[in-house]
Amino acid sequence: MADGQALDEVVTFTSDLIRIDTTNRGGGDCQERPAAEYAAEQLAGAGLEPVLLERTKGRTNVVARIEGTDPSADALLLHGHLDVVPAEARDWSVHPFSGEIRDGVVWGRGAVDMKNMDAMILAVLRSWAREGVRPRRDVVVAFTADEEASAEDGSGFLADRHPGLFEGCTEGVSESGAFTFHDGAGRQIYPIAAGERGTGWLKLTARGRAGHGSKVNKENAVTRLAAAVTRIGEHEWPLRLTPTVRAALTELAALYGIEPDLTDVDALLEKLGPAAKLVEATVRNSANPTMLDAGYKLNVIPGEAVAYVDGRYLPGGEDEFRTTLDLLTGPDVEWEFHHREVALQAPVDSPTYAAMRAAVEEFAPEGHVVPYCMSGGTDAKQFSRLGITGYGFAPLKLPEGFDYQALFHGVDERVPVEALHFGVRVLDRFLRSA
Ligand SMILES: [Zn+2]
Repeated sequence: MADGQALDEVVTFTSDLIRIDTTNRGGGDCQERPAAEYAAEQLAGAGLEPVLLERTKGRTNVVARIEGTDPSADALLLHGHLDVVPAEARDWSVHPFSGEIRDGVVWGRGAVDMKNMDAMILAVLRSWAREGVRPRRDVVVAFTADEEASAEDGSGFLADRHPGLFEGCTEGVSESGAFTFHDGAGRQIYPIAAGERGTGWLKLTARGRAGHGSKVNKENAVTRLAAAVTRIGEHEWPLRLTPTVRAALTELAALYGIEPDLTDVDALLEKLGPAAKLVEATVRNSANPTMLDAGYKLNVIPGEAVAYVDGRYLPGGEDEFRTTLDLLTGPDVEWEFHHREVALQAPVDSPTYAAMRAAVEEFAPEGHVVPYCMSGGTDAKQFSRLGITGYGFAPLKLPEGFDYQALFHGVDERVPVEALHFGVRVLDRFLRSA
């Protein structure tokens, strides 16, 4: 059981890490190094030997390994990113990099994404050092740079250049799971992430015949692009149930006492009310046009027109995604991946999933654990290249009115001290039993 010092430290570490501004605007100017050094210092204080690794100066990652008692067991990766998305101070009630603790709540950018989890990991490992606890499996801890942009200086770099540090790791645990989802009717649901949709950010290029805007032109690049963009935006993607989403729907239906009719998922989602939010973005692929770029003068037809589309595909859905895009864009518009990341699928019948579920249920007996698939992505995508299956498990018990998903990258991001205490207890229990 996590001790009182661990409960104090998780709050201090969260606050301290928030005060270290690691804003990542994606332009390469982020400096994770001070946060990495802070984490390394806490790990060293727990008797571990952290290594600091950089591909680019100042973009620092930290990795350490805790030897398990069973050398034949597979290792477990525990990872958290150190960077955060930008925050505009004038929009906030409390300065986003103050780490202020007010009325039992820690405020600031990173309070839920994900300096809270970084702090929980540090607090748990330090309490183990005090108590002489050793896990069964080796636990590899990684604090990464650059998750909020390309991950090229973070998990991507670690997976490509330092695979040896992750030797034996078969499963990974990180952000975006096991938080309290209040359904508005008194139920508390704890979704554990067991999969992620893939990212397919697309660049569309239409070519045509440039010419005078007053002439007949049947090969107008702007018209071609606009038609393709409309077809993509209006396309109704067919329903596809992955194993995780199938399990989520079945378990939610049972919780609500509804017939789990998976032949009519749209009707089932309707009946689930607010809880449908946990699954609705992951029952099909999606593709939303987001940017247009064409032309330079009102009376000149340009020879080329470009658009960008934010596409996401389900685990197992990439081939269908590609084929559908070929059809929707048609012969006059080319498309390519501007950025592509794999989709992930993790089993919900694994011992590791069962251990996460049991740990939540022990400390939140009123809660209902369900698996879910993330609509977006995390560092788990990069680590999957090493054969590591990723779960989202950063436990937080949140009171009603704390909309976790709205706080992610949101204004007034904050986390209750009680939620951090719960997180430490649950993470400690899970890691001891994993
Ligand atoms: Zn995050």
